[in-house]
Amino acid sequence: MREAYSLAVDARDQRFDGVFFVGITTTHIYCRPCCPSRLAHDQHRRFFDSAAAAEQAGFRPCLRCRPELAPGRTAFAALSRLAQVASERIASGALNGHTVADLAAELGVSERHLRRALEREVSVSPLELAQTHRLLLAKRLIVDTDLPMTRVAYASGFQSLRRFNAVFRAQYRMPPSALRRGRRARAAESLRLTLSYRRPALIPGLPLEGKVAIDGHSGVVSVRNSAAAAHLVVDIAESLLPVLMPLIAGLRRVFDLDAEPAVIDGHLSANGLGDLVERWPGVRVVGSLERLEGAQPDDFQSTDKALLARAEQWRPWRAYAAQLLELRRRDPAPDMPPPPPRTGVPAR
Ligand SMILES: [Zn+2]
Repeated sequence: MREAYSLAVDARDQRFDGVFFVGITTTHIYCRPCCPSRLAHDQHRRFFDSAAAAEQAGFRPCLRCRPELAPGRTAFAALSRLAQVASERIASGALNGHTVADLAAELGVSERHLRRALEREVSVSPLELAQTHRLLLAKRLIVDTDLPMTRVAYASGFQSLRRFNAVFRAQYRMPPSALRRGRRARAAESLRLTLSYRRPALIPGLPLEGKVAIDGHSGVVSVRNSAAAAHLVVDIAESLLPVLMPLIAGLRRVFDLDAEPAVIDGHLSANGLGDLVERWPGVRVVGSLERLEGAQPDDFQSTDKALLARAEQWRPWRAYAAQLLELRRRDPAPDMPPPPPRTGVPAR
């Protein structure tokens, strides 16, 4: 694995963006594999499966490649269903103002079981994972918006400005305001963020504008694609600021932004669908803005019960499931690859 990751860093391979992070032991900075900075010598590299693991090991996010912008990882066979669901819930802000015990109860497991599953599979505790999500969201809001620091703190899930300042300084060894020095002011009224994805990506149905409602907060969100930059540009009504974390997680899910197209397309090709992959590399199946709240699965349009059951097993790789299952139905030739292992976590 180390060798593959090293080669990916040497090649600045975009396919691995967000799949792992590389920490530079001489500077204690961690980067995306595609970072444009000068390459560190191989012996000074440390590889991490997640930003949270890198931060936990004392590394700070690179200011140039900005690890907070990397696409997420839809854990494939590697994570148990519990670790996967818990990670997704934490990314949606489940631990902002709530305890690990609350989340465990919601998932129907003991707190100890939940903590152990995450520590074993993601190498960080639930609280550490939540803290990294908060810090990285705060970091991007500081750099990409003109929101006052108090609003940055609350929008990223901190319960007070004082706590935000303390955690930020402790982890990044600088005050939050240091990230704004020398930066041009932006249009104050709009909250514009980018959500990156891995290439290749065919994302139908954009641009799109719609009203979304999460936890009693509602407002208009407009989404367009910037294919050249491999990200969506999202304009968010300020009324949605209190639910920014679940909103971002929901948008990533609805637009299938964490998909790993190289892996998906490889599987599809290996199953005799190479022609289709060639025609539509990285095709995503977009969900609906109305189903943004929580982690509800999007509808998979089918009346075939067996097909629905299989689509469910393939979540969150919705694009994969939809393509494979729909195509298989038309042409039920070779066997499907086995679905990822499941644990006893109740369906969302
Ligand atoms: Zn970097």
